Amino acid sequence: MTSPPRTVDGFVRQFLENLNLVRGVPLSASSDNDRYQALAHTVRDYLMARWLEDLRRQREAQGKGVCYLSAEYLLGRQLDNNLLATGLTEIATEAMASCGIDIDELRGHEVEPGLGNGGLGRLAACFIDSLATMGVPNIGYGIRYEYGIFRQTFVDGQQVEQPDAWLALGSPWEFPHPEAAQTVSFGGHTETYDDAGVTRTRWVPGWNVQALPYNYMVPGYHNGRVNTLRLWSARATDAFDLRIFNSGDYAEAVRAQTFAENISKVLYPEDSTPQGKELRLQQQYFFVAASIKDFLDTVLPKDFDLTRLPERVIFQLNDTHPVIGVPELMRVLVDERGLEWDAAWDITRECFAYTCHTLLPEALEEWPVDLLGRLLPRHLEIIYRINDDFLDEVRARYGDDEMRIRNMSIIAEHPERSVRMAYLATVAGAKVNGVAELHSQLLREKVLPAFNEFFPGKFTNVTNGVTPRRFVRLANPELSELITSALGTGWLTDLERLRELEVYAEDPDFRTAFGEIKADNKRRLSAVLAARDGVEVSDGHMLDVMVKRLHEYKRQMLKLLHIVTQYEAIISGKVAAADVQPRTFIFGAKAAPGYAMAKRIIHLINAVGQVVNNDPRVEGRLKVIFPPNYNVTLAERVIPAADLSEQISLAGKEASGTGNMKFALNGALTIGTDDGANVEIRELVGDDNFFLFGMSEPEVEALWARGYKPAEFYQRDPQLRSAIDLIASGAFSGGDRSVFEPVVSNLLYDDRFMVLADYATYIGAQAKVDAAYADQDAWTRSAILNVARCGFFSSDRSMRDYIDRIWHTPPVL
Ligand SMILES: *Cc1c(COP(=O)(O)O)cnc(C)c1O
Repeated sequence: MTSPPRTVDGFVRQFLENLNLVRGVPLSASSDNDRYQALAHTVRDYLMARWLEDLRRQREAQGKGVCYLSAEYLLGRQLDNNLLATGLTEIATEAMASCGIDIDELRGHEVEPGLGNGGLGRLAACFIDSLATMGVPNIGYGIRYEYGIFRQTFVDGQQVEQPDAWLALGSPWEFPHPEAAQTVSFGGHTETYDDAGVTRTRWVPGWNVQALPYNYMVPGYHNGRVNTLRLWSARATDAFDLRIFNSGDYAEAVRAQTFAENISKVLYPEDSTPQGKELRLQQQYFFVAASIKDFLDTVLPKDFDLTRLPERVIFQLNDTHPVIGVPELMRVLVDERGLEWDAAWDITRECFAYTCHTLLPEALEEWPVDLLGRLLPRHLEIIYRINDDFLDEVRARYGDDEMRIRNMSIIAEHPERSVRMAYLATVAGAKVNGVAELHSQLLREKVLPAFNEFFPGKFTNVTNGVTPRRFVRLANPELSELITSALGTGWLTDLERLRELEVYAEDPDFRTAFGEIKADNKRRLSAVLAARDGVEVSDGHMLDVMVKRLHEYKRQMLKLLHIVTQYEAIISGKVAAADVQPRTFIFGAKAAPGYAMAKRIIHLINAVGQVVNNDPRVEGRLKVIFPPNYNVTLAERVIPAADLSEQISLAGKEASGTGNMKFALNGALTIGTDDGANVEIRELVGDDNFFLFGMSEPEVEALWARGYKPAEFYQRDPQLRSAIDLIASGAFSGGDRSVFEPVVSNLLYDDRFMVLADYATYIGAQAKVDAAYADQDAWTRSAILNVARCGFFSSDRSMRDYIDRIWHTPPVL
């Protein structure tokens, strides 16, 4: 097939045809949604020939590919990215203009698919972008949630969740393939039978659902390549339906349908805190079983010799969510394909690799044996056997060291008998990686030390990255143009070339241009916020930004204490408002709906903003803005405008962070702790261009060991005491002291994330930020050096590291 001509006329013709043939309307009677959909279809048409060509090329090459298994993909809007990848942005803009349509207007009509919670889902989206751009064969497998991450609104400053009906107006980017549906089974029991003298096991499931694949194009940047993202949607099986329909129980049939379709109905809005809910395990098994079957049955050639499976695929496990794939592949190989256990295990161990994304022990998934055995009885048997064999090996190595056996067992006995999914992944995975140097080190030394000792060479690191196409080129077009004017093209796919900008940091004209772009980006953001929420970024303010999921370990409270400290100093007369560096603080954060403390903190941020923004004594020098519903679209607007990036988690808690990378690449300076990838950012940009504060991870450990009493910090530090007292006094809750009492007592008597212990050094570092910002030219120089030295954080580099250290998948040329 051929693509439409790459001319304005060709584009217009295709667009008008799509309006007529796909939407069934003439231009004169078309709605904005019609026009957006027709435009999206037109871009699709240009990608189609390449996609089909790539599918053919990959089928013929018979090379090794990556199946990325992820329960989340936080994709962001597709239109702009796909226009960029195909180089059609200008043609499309002109074509729309010639039809009397403002393309910017249409952009606003795309609802972003919010099929992820935060960093983990966004990482998956960056990775598939990079693989396509590098020409590496990849299928991203996941779930097509009917409702993605909730839409956040505020009512009286408190978070209210609205359902995210992202499919309501239709998604022009998806291709349903009901003919390629897979059946996924649940429940029932297992039985053994005699197969020509060999005793085998079969699973007799209790019920099935259909998994329908929806394909999405994943275009590479300017390379004519298109990979596939395949997301599964759940439907009731016909057989299931029919039996009940024939029994005449219509209501029961509808109930069964609903039951099945619930599996892909909604994304769990938990981030860094798994919910041990049955439906969630159903979701996990549903997409993993469908994906493995899809790969074996439809991607591999017929009669493929499965002992050679490791030559064709690596299943990368994005966190523990898809780990049930390990016993699933074993079941398919042993029960369905008749392989011997040991042969199947050798294959399985080569075909999986596991990425751990956390250091919080409570975030490591465990499934109660009762639940798992009820839902997936055969898988539980297989897990037990894997564990028995593994513990035999441990015994063979160390003798009957019962303590060690208990610590390394995939089955935990307390508080209830459950399967430790991270251990299962570690035992089965060819490699286990952390997501930043510090995280990988802590993983080896603190989280899984016994496994690191037992499996030398299994643990490795791949520091996260972000795609520069979306987070530099699309988010910051002016900066991209400035960089291109200095370096020429090519840097977007070879981001280390940003190093060449270092000399420009010394060029006053370049600094001026860079500073003007930052100012433009602030104005652009201000216009977006004005239209969206009726608030503006004040002129001449430093833009101080903390956007990420709301979690206590990320310490939004610490940022808030800084704001309250400044406010208190002004109203108590310790500081004249005129002497305060004007700052606009931007927060963006969703709280998991069941996370009460996180929701209280959101309420408090809004309450502080309400008071600070309206107190005339502040003279407008401090301003707190909390636009609701932080998502990828908003990130693309906020980050390029930021002067200061807040990365202030307690050391040893943030695995990597990727927001930190997006900011640095857009010329924001970081104030941060020695945590996650902050460590690597600081090493690269240099201490002079980074505001470090707070305890290091060993210092955190030492303080816990000594005994941490947050109230002592409160007693000792008058500034801290004033800030906390002001919150406790009801100053931000209309005099009602009870509203934020739980937040205050949590800080004073619990403070698991040591906000009070790091407060003093944080305030000190913020004073240094103020002093540095006073010299705009020097600040801009630092900002340029941040951009120049952060090319390492391209997700293209992450992909190269995965390929070299874990996957060994060459590009298909
Ligand atoms: C990058 C990104 C994140 C991750 O941010 P962190 O600061 O690394 O936690 C979360 N949400 C969105 C929308 C993002 O774009």
